[in-house]
Amino acid sequence: MKDKQVKTIIDAEIKRQKKVINLIPSENYTSKDVMEAVGSVFDNKYAEGYSYARYYGGNEEVDKLESLCKKRALELFGLKEKDWHVNCQAHSGSPANLAVFLANVPVGTGKIMGMSLTSGGHLTHGQKVSATGKFWTSVTFDVDKDTEVIDYDAVKKLAQKEKPTIIVAGFTAYPRVVDFKKFREIADSCGALLMVDMSHLAGLVAGKAYPSPFPYADVVTTTTHKTLRGPRGALIFSKKDERGIDKKIDKAVFPGLQGGPHMSHVAGIAVALHEAKTPAFKSYAKQVIKNAKAFAKEMKRLGWRVVSGGTDSHLLLIDTWAGGVTGKIAEAALEKAGIICNKNTIPGETRSPFDPSGIRVGTPAMTTRGYKEVDFVKVAQKIDKVLRGVK
Ligand SMILES: *Cc1c(COP(=O)(O)O)cnc(C)c1O
Repeated sequence: MKDKQVKTIIDAEIKRQKKVINLIPSENYTSKDVMEAVGSVFDNKYAEGYSYARYYGGNEEVDKLESLCKKRALELFGLKEKDWHVNCQAHSGSPANLAVFLANVPVGTGKIMGMSLTSGGHLTHGQKVSATGKFWTSVTFDVDKDTEVIDYDAVKKLAQKEKPTIIVAGFTAYPRVVDFKKFREIADSCGALLMVDMSHLAGLVAGKAYPSPFPYADVVTTTTHKTLRGPRGALIFSKKDERGIDKKIDKAVFPGLQGGPHMSHVAGIAVALHEAKTPAFKSYAKQVIKNAKAFAKEMKRLGWRVVSGGTDSHLLLIDTWAGGVTGKIAEAALEKAGIICNKNTIPGETRSPFDPSGIRVGTPAMTTRGYKEVDFVKVAQKIDKVLRGVK
């Protein structure tokens, strides 16, 4: 690279990424092939429109690429083209969710129902600071105070009272298995659409290590850069039927919210989807969860309170405040010791989002780097030592 300034920063970031123990559950490491695709000449191309219906010339290779990416996305999750549609153009997870709402929830009269931030929901599920909470009325549900897991009866009651247009199931900080069938029943009981945002879970679902939402959802969104181990981007799957949700979503993505797709990222997503079909990826997904369980077990053994008592997925929430350390202090102390995680609110949070009661840690990134259960037991012991040091 001729630009020495940027090159220096990139090299330093490579070093940093190699040096740290990365426990951020939404991060991962893509393969060289994915990066090669993202850094390819497709970044030079404008391709407004969809395959074989573009607003620019010169798209014969782009058309092949986008069609291949979509075919691979459907195949990976065992979906038939006659039943499901997929859009691979949304620039990232947040715009993908916005597109789903733009397509399905009338501005002014529509209502979004999602999980609260402190219980593990995402900003784009109707939080006030997000466009999704400004353009639409929204209502949130919490996990049960005592068990810290979803109380489906309470969610159902709230849904029947509030009559949302759409219910969003899918979270950024919920460690347990979600009963998507129950969410389907809840949506049906109040006439709402069911959207599952599996951003955190896509790789686990692809690897058959976590239940699939597809038998139950009308729409499934996901980022491609978390457990799925692809480049930054998003996929929006929608049921194909007389409601025409698929067509509305395509129109919401383009021209509703975006201009040209980032075709270099579509290329990278296509490569990642291919990689996710391999037996090696299946073992990866299973190992991610085995590692998280071992990690949670050791943290508990060392005396730390793990939210909901454990995990069924790739992440766990540790209530560091129960052990006398705030989330902010824990995050900073761990970073000094070379362990990267993020401070996080916990269910029923009594502190502030800037200095909450816990930290969120996950296993996807380090499992990609070869960590097994024994390594995560050691990570837990290191965390314990660091946190005891700041108490
Ligand atoms: C990460 C995430 C998003 C947002 O994705 P970005 O690519 O950061 O915009 C949306 N929903 C959930 C559940 C997520 O975990």
